[in-house]
Amino acid sequence: MLLPFDYVRARSREEAVDLALRAGAGGRFLAGGTDLLVRIHDRQLRPKVVIDLKGIEGMQAINSCDGEGLVVGAATPLNRLIRDELVRSRYGLLAEAAHTVGSVQIRNRASLGGNISNASPAADTAPALLLYEAEILTWGPSGGRKILIGEFFKGPGATALGEGEFVFKVRLPILKERSFGVYLKLGRTRAVDLAIVSVAALALEGGEVRLALGAVAPTPIRVREAEAILRNRKDKEAIKEAAAAARRLAAPISDIRASREYRLEMTEVLTARAIEQALAGLAARAR
Ligand SMILES: Cc1cc2nc3c(=O)[nH]c(=O)nc-3n(C[C@H](O)[C@H](O)[C@H](O)COP(=O)(O)OP(=O)(O)OC[C@H]3O[C@@H](n4cnc5c(N)ncnc54)[C@H](O)[C@@H]3O)c2cc1C
Repeated sequence: MLLPFDYVRARSREEAVDLALRAGAGGRFLAGGTDLLVRIHDRQLRPKVVIDLKGIEGMQAINSCDGEGLVVGAATPLNRLIRDELVRSRYGLLAEAAHTVGSVQIRNRASLGGNISNASPAADTAPALLLYEAEILTWGPSGGRKILIGEFFKGPGATALGEGEFVFKVRLPILKERSFGVYLKLGRTRAVDLAIVSVAALALEGGEVRLALGAVAPTPIRVREAEAILRNRKDKEAIKEAAAAARRLAAPISDIRASREYRLEMTEVLTARAIEQALAGLAARAR
């Protein structure tokens, strides 16, 4: 049984902030509710006021702005994101990663903003957002501000959001070069489970290969030292070195899903595989 709480559907950004400030520690924002309601049900959280963000203008919109890239409302359900033509064609890695979240029923409600605000180290959209160098556009007591995705995650369950502040939109900057992205997620089951290890690789036509890891550190991480190895060399030896560097940069824990040792081993294996697949995909795209 759910413990009782007040449910309020905010009609504007200002109202959402005002409600959150008034509720203080007893307030919680709600988007799809796929995580929040489970936690309330399990009594991990006991909010007094739940503030639904979905009715705020722009929260569920996907817009392409000239020179600005793509701007995705934070409450956009993942299934809508996955089906969006612009997302699929320009930010395919994000669509691929979002497609691995839960089940089709979960993805019908789960939002992009909820996925990152949860700040789970295993959040599936996070590695792709790190590689696209997304900007998190927030709204809070002082109005709007921009947080670079690399500065958004502060630890398990912790973000850079301040009191009364919520994720309003996510901006994906324009990628000027042709690219090919790969997301490899290892779970205990093939679906409806969080990652034990996840690796995202994005190969760019100019020669850059971007790499990010999920579930193997307190936050999702970009592994720039591993990327640097691939700057001028992309042969088998360089891929092996980059994968070993990714392993060194990972700092996983042992938990019910897997041991630290297994996670480290799989980080190396999956990083090498993701790099190879991303490079092969880019080469095929160029033909
Ligand atoms: C069966 C099941 C399977 C799952 N599988 C996966 C999986 O494979 N991969 C994965 O990454 N996740 C998974 N999840 C977790 C969850 O579904 C996702 O993280 C989802 O994207 C959360 O989005 P939501 O809109 O439902 O968030 P909500 O449940 O509405 O909110 C989640 C948290 O974020 C806060 N919040 C929501 N929106 C905002 C906002 N705009 N600004 C600030 N704070 C906000 C809420 O207060 C709450 O603390 C799973 C959950 C379940 C129940």
